Parts: sequence; C-alpha cells; structure tokens
Amino acid sequence: MLGLYLHIPFCAQRCVYCSFYSTTHGAAMRRRYATALCHEIASRASCATCASEPLSSIYLGGGTPSCLSDDDLRRILHTIYAHCRIAPDAEVTLEANPDDISAARVAAWRTMGINRISMGVQSTDDTTLRLLRRRHTAAEAMAAVHTVCDGGISNISIDLIYGLPGQSMAAWQSDVATALSLPIQHLSAYALSIEPGTPLYNMRACGEVQECDEEMSRAMYDHLIAATQAAGMVHYEISNFGYPDHMARHNTAYWQGHPYLGIGAGAHGYDGAALRRINTPDVQAYVAAYEASLAADVPFDPPHNDEYLSPSERYDEQVMTGLRTTEGIHLAALSDDERAYLLRQSARFVASRHLALTSDEHLRLTHEGIFISDYIMAELMWDA
Ligand code: SF4
Repeated sequence: MLGLYLHIPFCAQRCVYCSFYSTTHGAAMRRRYATALCHEIASRASCATCASEPLSSIYLGGGTPSCLSDDDLRRILHTIYAHCRIAPDAEVTLEANPDDISAARVAAWRTMGINRISMGVQSTDDTTLRLLRRRHTAAEAMAAVHTVCDGGISNISIDLIYGLPGQSMAAWQSDVATALSLPIQHLSAYALSIEPGTPLYNMRACGEVQECDEEMSRAMYDHLIAATQAAGMVHYEISNFGYPDHMARHNTAYWQGHPYLGIGAGAHGYDGAALRRINTPDVQAYVAAYEASLAADVPFDPPHNDEYLSPSERYDEQVMTGLRTTEGIHLAALSDDERAYLLRQSARFVASRHLALTSDEHLRLTHEGIFISDYIMAELMWDA
C-alpha cells in the first residue's frame, strides 16, 4: 500500500486548543502555495517510493484543506492524476471544516475524484464550540454532514473531542448520540490534551477554564466505546471507530508502517524501511524555495530533513504505532532479538492484564491498558 499525504497549513482562524502547524495567510499566499505544491508533486512523483506501486490513498490534511479555493484544489488533484499511478479504488480524502461546505462545493469535489470527507465537528454544544473558537455552530455542522452525503460523497468521517472544560457526561453522551445518528461511516474521538503554547493552555493557567478530571475523561471514553460498539462500529485504533469496511485506509497504512509520500510545508514522508523525510514547516520558506527554483529553472525540491531510523528507532516506531491499533504489534514482523526484548519488557503488563498476547502472535493493549498506554509504550521502548 502506498499513500500520498498533502499538507495544507492554512486555517481561517486558530482554534484555542490546536497545536498543529497552520497559518492564517489569505487567498494570495494560499494560491502561491498551491502552485508550489503542484510543482513538488510533479518533481517527486518519479521518486523510488512513488514509482514502486500505484497510490491506494491520497489524503489532503491540515490545517484546513477545504479553505483552499476549488480552483486550487482542482489544480492539485489534476497534477496528482497527471503524474502518479492511482489504484482504481483509491481512497481520496479531504479534511473539511463545516463552514466551508455547500452543495456546490461538494459537487465540485466529486468531479475532482474526492470520495471521502473528514470533518472537524468537535462538539454538538454551541457554548463549547464558541469557547473553542470554532467557526461553526452545531446545527451548521450537522447540516454540513447531510450536505456532503446528499451530494453523493457517502464516505464521511467526523472528529469529536471529549474531556473539554466544563463538559458534562450528559453533554458528551449527547455528542456521541448525535454523531451516531448522522450518515457517517467513521468517527475519530480524541481526549483533549492541553498543550503548551496554545491559548487554551494560557486560559487554564489564568483560571479561565478548568481541565476535565481523569476519572471523568475515562468514563467518557468508556461511554464512547460502548455506544460505538452498540451501533455496530469497529474500534480499530485507540481513537478511531468505523463501520465494517470503512476504516481509514490512509491512517491504517501509516499505523502498519507502509510507505507514504509527504508533500507540502511540514509534511512527513516514510519509505517503509528506514528513511523519514520532513519538509520545512514554514509556508513562506517553502513558497520562496519554489519561486527560487522557478527563477533558476531547476526542479523544485523543498528544504527538508532526511532522518535515517536506526534499527532501535524502527523498533520503537513499530511498538508505538502497533500498540495504537486493536490488532496490536505483530511479533512475527520483529527480529528474534526484538521479539525477545519485547516479550521480556511486556511480561509484567501481560500479567497485570494491561496487555494481551493473542493466539495469532500479536501483542495488544487491553481495555484497561489503553488508559495507561503512554506509560506502557515508554516501558516497551528499546532503551527503556
Ligand atoms: S481548524 Fe483544525 S488545524 Fe485549524 S486551528 Fe482549528 S483544529 Fe487546528
């Protein structure tokens, strides 16, 4: 499986909890960026990773990719189709904010080959949405999901956040029930993490908001698991749930260590073996590098860092990504030394039933283990 990830680091405004790299540049910079992105696609489509097999997934993430104009989105997707081989059933996902969605735009996105929408809904409570500085109301988000579905893109994922300041269990239960009543195939639900440098971090420091306590957050997660299971969804990753045959292909390939090409400012790529490439996380430097390559009439290769993972770093990655999935870490994919080390390090967690060894040679988190997963992962690292 080969994936293509395109990073679109623009947002109309910054949400108070967000620690991802994105900027609020306007239409002119977005257009220059889209042009640079097209040239990076064209110049890197013949690389060894991309030439190895057809793309099975294309993912436009951000930021807010839906804040690009349809002209820019069309240029980007047409460049991909012109330069890359695409599997006939490729998953083509666009991350979209509810306030960018209209029937006309959904129709345009379909003509571009977009067949999956991932939408940031986050909450169905307007007071919470205002606190988070989201640009949409709950009703607008619900309507946007129906607009996408009615427009013929039926593969829809939405994001929710739990453990929000002031959020009650009743409010969370309502969020989950509302989400499951929508025509969606996939749900991503994340526990709020208040990161340094975000406005929410400062708001907590000033006493403007109070963090949800751990017990409540855990009860909310328990409710999420029970409700999604009752609805027939498969809990296939710590924060991800999908109806059968609707797991996110792009993210699943990432968790399974498959190769993917990362295009755009701040995008990461991985060759599936040992090389990780990280493009400069700076829109202006990225665009300036493209414009300099144009003036010099040379192919565009944006500023980037290549990181070669050592065997122990690869082992750590396999442990971290594998443990996030319900399937777990495939022991047969490890070397003899790595397998022996992992079994030694994990023995006490298996005994305490935080980890389980399955009959098909996988080591996975149990329900109890999920709540201390960060600690367990740290203890299973190569130099722990
Ligand atoms: S729209 Fe998404 S990427 Fe942009 S600030 Fe909000 S959460 Fe972050």
